[in-house]
Amino acid sequence: ESQLNPNYSFENFLEGDSNRLARSAGLAVAAKPGGTSFNPLLIFGGVGLGKTHLAHAIGVDIKDKYPEKTVLYISAEKFTQQYIDAVKKNNRNDFIHFYQIIDVLIIDDVQFLSGKTGTQDVFFHIFNHLHQNGKQVILTSDKAPVDMQDIEQRLLSRFKWGLSAELQNPDFETRVSILKNKLYRDGVEMPDEIIDYVAKNIKSNVRELEGAIISLIAQSSFNKKEITIDLARVIVEKFVKNTKREVSIDYIQKVVSDYFQMDIDTLQSKTRKRHIVQARQLAMFFAKKHTKASLASIGSQIGKRDHATVLHACKTVDNLSSTDKQFKKYVEDITKKLSV
Ligand code: ADP
Ligand code: MG
Repeated sequence: ESQLNPNYSFENFLEGDSNRLARSAGLAVAAKPGGTSFNPLLIFGGVGLGKTHLAHAIGVDIKDKYPEKTVLYISAEKFTQQYIDAVKKNNRNDFIHFYQIIDVLIIDDVQFLSGKTGTQDVFFHIFNHLHQNGKQVILTSDKAPVDMQDIEQRLLSRFKWGLSAELQNPDFETRVSILKNKLYRDGVEMPDEIIDYVAKNIKSNVRELEGAIISLIAQSSFNKKEITIDLARVIVEKFVKNTKREVSIDYIQKVVSDYFQMDIDTLQSKTRKRHIVQARQLAMFFAKKHTKASLASIGSQIGKRDHATVLHACKTVDNLSSTDKQFKKYVEDITKKLSV
């Protein structure tokens, strides 16, 4: 009914510096749904950092404390589909009514609404109704409201009414405790050395962290082999490689422009201002390094340049990083942010 997954509980959501604010805001909301200033509570952060888990945990906890409340979890994608179906069947009002009588509405991945003006419009009305009636809204997104694109201003401003709390990459200790908790729950023993190795090498995505451990357990039991550091190395490498392939040129441009605090439009613009040219060259350099795209394709995606410009950019970055300390630091910082 509520679509909540009881395994995604607060108990299983390990605390660390990376998630402390979001986690405690979630607990506060769960204690008094609709009765805090965290309305909406918007949880944002990168892929696999626990947004969906935390959103469920809040809902599960509310259901526990207030069984009479109606709590609904839904992805923005499913919400959109439902709305489109409702419009087709002339049920728009029923759709709105259904959502307006919910006590706690959890919408996951609201970035999906970008560009979908009809759904945004209906959500705006539902949101206002719920908010006015003291009902709780919980949202998750892969971006902070300021960075969301193609979402109507009036909706963005509603998103900012409450609290936006970020989930960041967990630090090493948190990664270790997440792994230990998972192993404990699955009743599997694993040498600390191996856990440390996995936690040290998979840094930016809890889902992959867990995936590597699951695959390690599976491999060892399937082949009746002991879990050794060598086996761990092979599996971690596979995961890290897979992650690398996922880096897109869009993502690289986003990371680079965020780093220099400029818009992607500025990064791609025709200007010859030095710091913008350098940012663009860095984006091209990282696109060459981390994607399989051709020079021509990189050029066309980063401000409609030709392949020679990209080649020149890569050479310039190579040169500058060996002669210019500041520039070398840019390359190192961005490499870290891309976590490749
Ligand atoms: P997102 O929605 O941000 O992409 P998920 O909520 O799906 O991420 O989390 C990915 C996986 O990582 C899930 O299995 C989740 O249980 C786990 N996870 C994330 N953060 C934590 C945490 N702090 N403690 C325990 N497990 C976590
Ligand atoms: Mg999710």
